[in-house]
Amino acid sequence: MTERFDGSKVWAGLAPEHQAEIGAVALELISAWWAQEQSPDQFDGNDPVLRAAEAADHALINELRQVVVDALPMTAFNAPDGKPLLPSRLGPFCRNCGCTQENACVPSCWWVEDDLCSSCAKEAAR
Ligand SMILES: [Zn+2]
Ligand SMILES: [Zn+2]
Repeated sequence: MTERFDGSKVWAGLAPEHQAEIGAVALELISAWWAQEQSPDQFDGNDPVLRAAEAADHALINELRQVVVDALPMTAFNAPDGKPLLPSRLGPFCRNCGCTQENACVPSCWWVEDDLCSSCAKEAAR
């Protein structure tokens, strides 16, 4: 597997005050998502709680990005060659098409190598 962004490792290296800030914003973001999911009017938009929770969602995603940027240089998200790292929790993905276990090709595919799916292997064989 190619190098990944290891959130557990990076988190362990953060100062406690940064952990506290990032953790609090992340939990508040989850509460905004939860409030949206629990809305009885999820699809017609007349629920004031839904509207407020959507605003919180937007604001908290921006705030999460900001508290992370304050805690870490963006280079922490890059490989030594400067390319962005994918998260380690993603699991395997196809080096050719980017499909994953949770987002497979249609018709469905399987792994023929650690990072190559059967759809792409078939295409390469043509
Ligand atoms: Zn593929
Ligand atoms: Zn695939």
